[in-house]
Amino acid sequence: MNICLNDKIFETLSKVVDAEKVEAYVIGGWVRDSILKRDHPDKDIDIVVVGSGIEIARKAAHQFGKGIKVTVFKNFGTAMFRIGEYEIEFVGARKESYTRGSRKPVVENGSLEDDQKRRDFTINALAVSLNSATYGDMLDPFGGIIDLENKIIRTPLDPDKTFSDDPLRMMRAIRFSNQLNFTIESNTFDSIKRNAERIKIVSPERIVTELNKIILCSHPSKGFNLLDKSGLLRIILPALDNLKGVETIEGKAHKDNFHHSIKVLDNICKKTDNLWLRWAALLHDIAKPVTKKYIPETGWSFHGHEYVGSKMIPDIFRELRLPLNEKMKYVQKLVDLHLRPIVLSQDVVTDSAIRRLLFEAGDDIDDLMLLCEADITSKNEAKKTKHLENFKIVRNKLKEIEEKDALRNFQPPVDGSEIIETFGIKPGREVGIIKNTIREAIIEGLIPNEHEAARKLMLEKGIELGLIPVDKDH
Ligand code: ATP
Ligand code: MG
Repeated sequence: MNICLNDKIFETLSKVVDAEKVEAYVIGGWVRDSILKRDHPDKDIDIVVVGSGIEIARKAAHQFGKGIKVTVFKNFGTAMFRIGEYEIEFVGARKESYTRGSRKPVVENGSLEDDQKRRDFTINALAVSLNSATYGDMLDPFGGIIDLENKIIRTPLDPDKTFSDDPLRMMRAIRFSNQLNFTIESNTFDSIKRNAERIKIVSPERIVTELNKIILCSHPSKGFNLLDKSGLLRIILPALDNLKGVETIEGKAHKDNFHHSIKVLDNICKKTDNLWLRWAALLHDIAKPVTKKYIPETGWSFHGHEYVGSKMIPDIFRELRLPLNEKMKYVQKLVDLHLRPIVLSQDVVTDSAIRRLLFEAGDDIDDLMLLCEADITSKNEAKKTKHLENFKIVRNKLKEIEEKDALRNFQPPVDGSEIIETFGIKPGREVGIIKNTIREAIIEGLIPNEHEAARKLMLEKGIELGLIPVDKDH
């Protein structure tokens, strides 16, 4: 099999490796995605050199242009540079052997085939020659092409060896299966089950990179079902694993909250690429197991799970080394507020309840509405339509109030410094009380969101607190 390498980049690389008299190949994701005619998502091209990858990287960069900066990772024996949107990475062909209990391989120089053996999957071990005599020839020692045709994920060696050497590959198998919609070959999958515990030696940073790639798939539920069936989920995300299962008391069963959560995640994926909104969907019911109660008269209750859930997020994010910044706060906020629009859609909606939600959700109100709509997983079409109708009413109401009161990014019409100046006081408790009174009055609809009305209320409240306005004429 021959593969098109007619890109200018490859022609230039070919000249360089011929001149240096080394063998070199395009390998890995680039080759795989070219055969699949898949858009290259990362635009990264991996080149394996039978010799020094770093040296060839330097020579090639020079050939592309004088000022090109080469980044060298001496410890890994790799080097890379950028050409336009492409990132070209060079590595010397190597042979690796690992010792149990460690992720640090002993690395020696090797042949192309040695290098292909240490690749994760047959479909990622395909190499295409860059040397002019064999330009475009495909080297496929493990049947990667057939596996691509049959949509199979399989390790090039005995899977127990491949996974034991670098257990992250188990996550990668599931990630590729999800991204490419491939099946993990049964021996390979059985081996993941056997080796699942080994994932513990992999750093959380590497694990979460793969987890995020799964969450960014168009149907991540497939990946999460595989994580579950392989036994990996229990280890990498125990809180999500705890959502599994159905309990029945007096003939009443609650739903399986794991399957519900990954369905909600699939639903939100149709609406957004926002990784953090996707995380919020995945974790929105995370506190259901710890808040679960059976109440004889009414059945299953998960009272407060949205609030308790939002408080569980920091620990989960910390364990996974996800960011502990405003991204996490956003996820917490959505988890915390995820029932509010439902409540609004069921009761007679008062303007003040709508204002309060707008006020608390701020700019994230649209994302919150998407989450709530994704949260409808009922199989009963009539029910589903009814819920969606109700949310439409809430959306209209939000829009109406928003236009009237401009509360989304509420800036108090009277701010702290005006209060301080008016009464000639220092920042402190009174300022807080007055600000709060004004905000509550606006939310409750007692005064409009305007300066004049707010100033009047400030004066009344200040006087009630025993403050005296400073007389400006003195
Ligand atoms: P994508 O870029 O879409 O994630 P990719 O296949 O290019 O897919 P990379 O992580 O960029 O994946 O790695 C490039 C290549 O390096 C892979 O195709 C594979 O041959 C090899 N590789 C990467 N990570 C590993 C690993 N943990 N074990 C073995 N081989 C790996
Ligand atoms: Mg890649």
